[in-house]
Amino acid sequence: MESNKVINFQSLSQNVGRFNLRNKKFLIPQMNRIGSHLLAATFRGFGIDAKVMENDKGLDLGMEHTSGKECYPCQITTGNILYFMQKEEEKLGDSFKPENYIYFMPEADGPCRFGMYNKYQRIILDSIDKLDRLKIGSLSTDDGYSLSGLIEEEQVRDLRKTSYFSVVVADILDRLLWRIRPYEKEPGTADDFIENSMHEMEDTFAEYGSGNEFDKILGKLEDIVREGEAIIDPAITPKPLIGMVGEIYLRTQVHANQDVIRVLERYGAEVVNASISEWVNYTTYDGLRDAKIGLRLNLKQFRLRAVKEHLKKAVSFGAELFYQQSKQRQVYKRVRSLIDLDEDHKVAHLEKILKEQDLFSFDVGTEACLSIPGIVEYAMEGYNGVVNVYPFTCMPSTLTSAIVRPLMNKLRLPYLDTPYDSSFQPGREAAIRTFMYQAHQHFKRNGRKKFSGHR
Ligand code: SF4
Repeated sequence: MESNKVINFQSLSQNVGRFNLRNKKFLIPQMNRIGSHLLAATFRGFGIDAKVMENDKGLDLGMEHTSGKECYPCQITTGNILYFMQKEEEKLGDSFKPENYIYFMPEADGPCRFGMYNKYQRIILDSIDKLDRLKIGSLSTDDGYSLSGLIEEEQVRDLRKTSYFSVVVADILDRLLWRIRPYEKEPGTADDFIENSMHEMEDTFAEYGSGNEFDKILGKLEDIVREGEAIIDPAITPKPLIGMVGEIYLRTQVHANQDVIRVLERYGAEVVNASISEWVNYTTYDGLRDAKIGLRLNLKQFRLRAVKEHLKKAVSFGAELFYQQSKQRQVYKRVRSLIDLDEDHKVAHLEKILKEQDLFSFDVGTEACLSIPGIVEYAMEGYNGVVNVYPFTCMPSTLTSAIVRPLMNKLRLPYLDTPYDSSFQPGREAAIRTFMYQAHQHFKRNGRKKFSGHR
């Protein structure tokens, strides 16, 4: 792909934002595989032509169009969209029209660089022939990832509910895989089973999602969980339990993290990774928290108009958070009556841990707000080790590591940092093996967390 190095700064505001998706192909990057596919199926249920892009072929293109200083997920996603468009052009020839697509790249506000990915990618797309016509659809944490403007206003609420539901169901399917794979009777069965289940669930979301028929979707999920539990060999005794935290893209994207969960399993682990719903709940919680702070400050200064605005925001974020957490609880309750999967903690509880132990503040923001107390919880609950997975030079994860490492030493809980970029580090597997040796020792000395659900 030829770049003509033209920078059009106006395009940063005009061609990045919320655009109506009707009659467009909506391109979703593949972060966690199941979550991206269920989200795409949800959009299809609402009549949007949504597609998940391949994830493992664009890295060379991404590296060609970046300087090497960007965060690794930015390089990967840049490469994937360029690769996808290149293939579409080859396939469609003269009828290829980039304006018929919307590329999805959400953002978060500071202090780290995720908010800049879509602007940076805009500059790259604008510098490539025709791709200046490809718009970037962006949602922001500023308004709790509001979907307003993407489809007809009367459907926005239903789309939001089903999208959130798809995130929770995808988390459960991921957790089901990590729960059954280390104990499967036949190697490979769990992977095949979850892959098929994901496709069945896509059909279910496409059929029932737009009507918010969650009971039907839950019924299907229960069938899958029952079938999945039968894959477990009861003769295999429990293994050391490893908790995973880190940067959301790297810890959930198996190509990017060189399939770290599978490597840990190879050395005898059962792994629980932090969920995607946790991040969604965090952004809503943070919106509510900001609104409450604004409300307090403006009340003190009698700025009545601002008080009204913040009050409105607080009510809206509060209602959203209540909905999300109760929906999540309902789904986990039904699933945990069938199999013992770990549940997420409430974000308010995580903030309380940070305050009580004086480790970090939600005022700073970023995923460190979740990773640090998440690790503390793993330690308190009886996990046998913790892995922090992140892109090389990632700011929030490096912060997490600096704060948590001495704490883990004090608690004598095995802890491993696994920073990733596109290179393969020769010592990585040895580090994981050593970590798992320590986790086995911890398991022998202390046993492991028992989930409160059915086993
Ligand atoms: S979380 Fe880490 S990888 Fe993601 S944008 Fe921030 S610094 Fe980059």
